[in-house]
Amino acid sequence: MTLSEISKLTEDEAREMLERIMWPNGPVCPHCGCTDGHTKFAGKKHRAGVWKCNSGCGEQFTVTLNSIMEASHISIRHWLMAFALICSAKKGVSALQLQRQLGLGSYRSAWHLAHRIRHAMSQEPLAGLLRGDVEADETYVGGKPRKAGTHKVGEFRGGRSSIKTPVVVLVERNGRSRAFATTDAKANTLAPILRANVDPSSRLLTDEWRPYIRIGREFKGGHQRVSRGKGEYARGDVHVNTAESWNALLKRGIMGSFHHVSKKHLHRYCNEFSFRWNYRKTTDGARTEVAVKAAKGKRLMYREPAKII
Ligand SMILES: [Zn+2]
Repeated sequence: MTLSEISKLTEDEAREMLERIMWPNGPVCPHCGCTDGHTKFAGKKHRAGVWKCNSGCGEQFTVTLNSIMEASHISIRHWLMAFALICSAKKGVSALQLQRQLGLGSYRSAWHLAHRIRHAMSQEPLAGLLRGDVEADETYVGGKPRKAGTHKVGEFRGGRSSIKTPVVVLVERNGRSRAFATTDAKANTLAPILRANVDPSSRLLTDEWRPYIRIGREFKGGHQRVSRGKGEYARGDVHVNTAESWNALLKRGIMGSFHHVSKKHLHRYCNEFSFRWNYRKTTDGARTEVAVKAAKGKRLMYREPAKII
């Protein structure tokens, strides 16, 4: 399901595509879970895409019920196009770009659409711990750029003392990633994130940032550090180059596509970049399908109008 394929579909065809993705074995009633005996309402009297659960609860349902697309005034065709755009753009897509490419009426609709898709891309916390060789590193996002020459003597990782928001990224070598926007990069913040996401049998790889030392002792595979301060980038297979590539991608995305990301929403961008990274080895179409499927069972409501990109 590529962007150009989806853009040629009618709304009915787009809905049928969504039904095929969400219900590969035929319609499932979201109210009672029953899987057969459903009839589709037809004719002009009925809203398109409404099914009736005959053998179960007798309720009506649509394919978008109980998903991020529920009660949306945006067409299914536009939803699928937005999924395809976001899933294939390495550096992300701004709300403005979405609005333009989809021809949406308002910036706000595009903004909400993008954030709902980011929400769909979020990973279940119990989806399995990262294991094997796991690199951990932080990057700093947002805030005003620091003035040149404000670094203290010996301060080689300026970001760590700046007002920017830290993002902690955990990356399996040749595998999956997870990223978290945090309040700081101190030991008490890093330890619970590592415990909740990295299997204790793993080998932890970090730079020499001291807050990793204590938590590092909990990993049976050991904790190895590369001394960035001494200009060392790798010692054999001890390095955090994978995590740094991940961070670079997030930074390029935020600078190139989003320009400004508020602290409040940064975790959603982390979801988005993590999702694309985790499915980087599949095609754009397959990645899009995974994201669309993940939209099921997730809702996201915003009470206040969004002011920030
Ligand atoms: Zn039912």
